[in-house]
Amino acid sequence: MLHRIEPRSGVAFTLKRGQRLKVSDPEGEQVADLLAFNADDVDEVISSGRTLDYASRIFLTTGDPLYSNRSNVMLRLEEDRVGRHDFLLTPCSADTFRIIYGDEHPHRGCFGNLAAALAPFGIGPDRIPIAFNVFMNVTVDGATGELKVEPPRSRAGDYTVFAAEMDLIIGLTACSALQSNNYAFKPIHYEILD
Ligand SMILES: [Zn+2]
Repeated sequence: MLHRIEPRSGVAFTLKRGQRLKVSDPEGEQVADLLAFNADDVDEVISSGRTLDYASRIFLTTGDPLYSNRSNVMLRLEEDRVGRHDFLLTPCSADTFRIIYGDEHPHRGCFGNLAAALAPFGIGPDRIPIAFNVFMNVTVDGATGELKVEPPRSRAGDYTVFAAEMDLIIGLTACSALQSNNYAFKPIHYEILD
């Protein structure tokens, strides 16, 4: 069944070990922030630091595992039609929009959307780590370390499939940040495949 995440919103749901999650960009150039928690113990959570450490690179694609803070594999990228995602930056938030964009009445962003969607699972906002930012295109200058948020490389219909290696609670958004989505807010589609 195809699910639609409306622009600038987010959802949470369970994903069983052995199931796959297909995240699609129906219109192109739209980021989806992905979080994963162990469904049996939400103190175990997706970890950018451990994943990038073990991969020894910052760009992940087909075959790469996403590790938890306890160094267990939570998800694996099984199929990747885009090949560029970000795992460095935190979910956009009201503070992001205040500090980077100077908004006086900022949107709650992916962070607020994820916090609201995860609350029924007993996961509070302070538990939200760096998300795996599906389709987000962050470039890094190798000499200076300067980061640039570029338009996503995803085109309409592109997708990435993640295979669950444990029972998970997933948080997923259609990202709310202007820069990340080439200044247009679009929906995200997802499917759970058995
Ligand atoms: Zn966002």
